[in-house]
Amino acid sequence: MKQSYDIIIAGAGPSGLHAARRLAEKGYDVLVLEKKAEVGESVNCTGIIGRETFERFSLSPESRQRDIQDVRLVSPSGVSIVYKHPKPFACIVDRRRFDRDMAKAAEAAGAEIRTGCSVKDLRQEGEGVSVETGAGEEEGGEGIGTYRARAVVLATGVQWELSRKAGLGVPRGRLVGAQVELEAPDVDIPAIYAGTEIAAGGFAWAVPTAPGKAKFGLITESDPRGCFHMFADKHLGGSYGSGFNGNVQYKIIAQGPAIRTSGRAVISLGEAAGQVKTTTGGGISYGLHCAEIAASVIGELLRHEGAVKERDLQEYDRAWRKALQKEIQLGLFARKIWSRLSDAHIESAFRVAQEDGLIPLVQNHGDFDWHSGLIMAFLRQASLSKILSGAGKAFLPFRDSRS
Ligand SMILES: Cc1cc2nc3c(=O)[nH]c(=O)nc-3n(C[C@H](O)[C@H](O)[C@H](O)COP(=O)(O)OP(=O)(O)OC[C@H]3O[C@@H](n4cnc5c(N)ncnc54)[C@H](O)[C@@H]3O)c2cc1C
Repeated sequence: MKQSYDIIIAGAGPSGLHAARRLAEKGYDVLVLEKKAEVGESVNCTGIIGRETFERFSLSPESRQRDIQDVRLVSPSGVSIVYKHPKPFACIVDRRRFDRDMAKAAEAAGAEIRTGCSVKDLRQEGEGVSVETGAGEEEGGEGIGTYRARAVVLATGVQWELSRKAGLGVPRGRLVGAQVELEAPDVDIPAIYAGTEIAAGGFAWAVPTAPGKAKFGLITESDPRGCFHMFADKHLGGSYGSGFNGNVQYKIIAQGPAIRTSGRAVISLGEAAGQVKTTTGGGISYGLHCAEIAASVIGELLRHEGAVKERDLQEYDRAWRKALQKEIQLGLFARKIWSRLSDAHIESAFRVAQEDGLIPLVQNHGDFDWHSGLIMAFLRQASLSKILSGAGKAFLPFRDSRS
C-alpha cells in the first residue's frame, strides 16, 4: 500500500474534494482521507448553490434537483411576499449525489480517496508531515495506518480537533442549523420565514427537493429545538407534526473566519477555516472558491524541492481573505443588525417591501453568493434605514445622506 503522497487532504466534503481534483489535475499525488464509511453519507445540508458557482466549477448536473427563480418571504405574523427573479439564480442539489460526483471527478483526475479512515493526528517530520489514521465512524476502514505528505489540507468541516492540533485557528462564532426532509407535495417554491421565536438571529425555510418532498429547517443563534417546535406550530399548521418527531438533525455552522489558516506545511480549508457566508450560513460556494486558491498556492510551492515553508503558505491565507474579507465582515455586521430586530421591526420591513419596493433593489443588487452590494443598498434605502436605526444606533452611519 502506498504511504507517501505530495498532498493529503483530511475530509471529503465539497471543499476537500475540489482541492483534491484541482491538485491532481496539476499532476500531484493526492490522497483524501474521509472518516465516514461513504462519501456524501448523512450530510445535513439543504443543497442550495448559486447558478454562477454551479456553472463556474463544472459541478455534477445529475445531482441537480430543481432551479430556484421565485422565493416566498413570510413575516412573523404570516404576511407573505413572493419575490420573482428575472431568471433562475440558484439550484437545489442532492448533496449525497453531489459529493459522490465530486469524488468521482477527483478520482478521474488521479486522486485516491480512502473512506472509513479518520485522521487522528499529524506531526511535522523532516521536510513533510506524518499523518496518523484510525478507524472512522464504522470499524474496518480502508488502509488505516501512517502516511506521509509534503503538505496537508484540513477540510474537516465543523470538526476542529486537527486544526487545533496543528496550531491553526478555529472560527470564533457558531450558529446552529436544524433540518428534516419530509413528504410535502404542497411545498411548491422555497419559502423563507422570519421571526425571533422561530429563529433567533436567523431564519427558517421550507425548500422543495425531490418530487413530493421538502426540507424544513432553520438556523438560529440559540435554542434550535425550541425554535423548531415553534416553527412547526406557527407556520406549518401541524400538518407535518408527527414527521418532525425525532427526525430533525442538528449541526453547528461556523460563523466568521478562523484567525490563522496556514502553518508549516498545513492549511485549513472550507468550513474548517470559517469560509462560510456569514449572512446565510451557506458554505459550499466559498469552500470551492477557496479550494481553487489553495490548489493554486500549494501547487506552485510543490513545484520546488524541499519543505513547504510556513511563510510561503501564508500566501494562501492572504489570498482567500482578500477574496472574502469584505463579504464576511459586512455579512457579520448585517447579522448583528438582524439579530437585534424585534418582530415589530421585521413586520415594518415587510411593509416597506410591499409599499416602497425593496424588490427592485434585490433585482439590481442581489447576488446569490456575494451579498455586500445588497447589504449596502438596504442600509442606504431611506425607509429601511429608519427601521434599522430604530433598532440600534450602531446603524446610523450607514444612512444615506440624501435620505
Ligand atoms: C441545516 C444546514 C443547511 C445547510 N444548507 C446549505 C445550503 O443550502 N447551501 C450551502 O452552500 N451550504 C449549506 N450548509 C452549509 C454546508 O453544508 C457546509 O458549509 C459545507 O458542507 C462545508 O463543506 P466542507 O467541505 O468545508 O465541509 P463538510 O461538508 O462538512 O465536509 C467535511 C468532511 O470531513 C470529514 N472529516 C471530519 N473530520 C475528519 C477526520 N478527522 N478525518 C477524516 N475525515 C474527517 C467529515 O466526515 C466530512 O465528510 C448548510 C448547513 C446546515 C447545518
